[in-house]
Amino acid sequence: MKSAIQPSLINDPFGDPGLLVQFLLQKRALLFDLGDLSAVSNGNLLKVSHVFVSHTHIDHFIGFDRLLRTLFGREKTLTIYGPKNIIQNVAGKLAGFTWNLVELYDESLTIEVVEVRESGLLKGTFRAIDRFQLCDERQEPFVDGLIVDDPAFSVRTAILEHRVPCLGFALEEKPHANIDKDKLASMKAEPGPWLNELKKSVLRGEAETSLITVPFKEADSSHTADIPLGQLKNDLVEVFPGQKIGYVVDTVFNDRNREKIVGLVDSADIFFCESPFLADEEERGRERCHLTSRQAGILAREAGVKQLQVFHFSSRHKGCREQFYNEAQEAFQG
Ligand SMILES: [Zn+2]
Ligand SMILES: [Zn+2]
Repeated sequence: MKSAIQPSLINDPFGDPGLLVQFLLQKRALLFDLGDLSAVSNGNLLKVSHVFVSHTHIDHFIGFDRLLRTLFGREKTLTIYGPKNIIQNVAGKLAGFTWNLVELYDESLTIEVVEVRESGLLKGTFRAIDRFQLCDERQEPFVDGLIVDDPAFSVRTAILEHRVPCLGFALEEKPHANIDKDKLASMKAEPGPWLNELKKSVLRGEAETSLITVPFKEADSSHTADIPLGQLKNDLVEVFPGQKIGYVVDTVFNDRNREKIVGLVDSADIFFCESPFLADEEERGRERCHLTSRQAGILAREAGVKQLQVFHFSSRHKGCREQFYNEAQEAFQG
């Protein structure tokens, strides 16, 4: 499917879990979990605007320092979402360094932290210029699982059980339209606000026969012409319908989680789901609050996702890579 976002797992499935989502038409990226980030380039870390931390077990949070090291000294706001206690976890990380020289930097990093609780969203701010002291603590409503509503995408979350609360996430890219600049130039049409109207009309699915007034400029004369929307759409507009990506790690297979996960990742184009254990280790999975390959496949099937990508395999099973994939696929396809 045509999409302007590209998700990729950061590490091998036996390494620390984490997903990098890059926006192909913007200098922007999102990170899901902050495990070992050594495989991510500084260039990509600098593009990160939002980080979604499932929980702060060390394999999901050890990369915070690397991200901070890369972004420190930049004029930038980074927003981190996480479960209960994430504000204290970030405060603890920041308190581990000495910040007496921050005044020497012209640019100041701001870290906004959003703690997702059943009762609401708790927000706090840490500014480099203030030596990363926690300030502006405030509470906001948490409605319908929605935590980000950006012009380009939205993110919903569900609070799952893993002995500690662990967040599952669903990222939805909003549909958008792009104008082919070369074709616009060869048509000799004049760029202007009409292009935004054209994009909106296409996304709203307006009648192809409706007319759009197009300004033209040639040599020393300007004129306009009314052209059918359908023709402009074919000639100039590329439509990106938007894809949905699910991300679930570190959780136990029970009825409550199952219902939450299936609702969250419903009809996703791609579902990244943990599978630390093999199909015959359900007992072990229950004890450790993790999923098996088969359980990941069942969740994916029940949610009607288009593609399942399992990862976060237990290092005890280094020789069983294909078995993880096969068992998950078998359950997914029923
Ligand atoms: Zn983990
Ligand atoms: Zn964990």
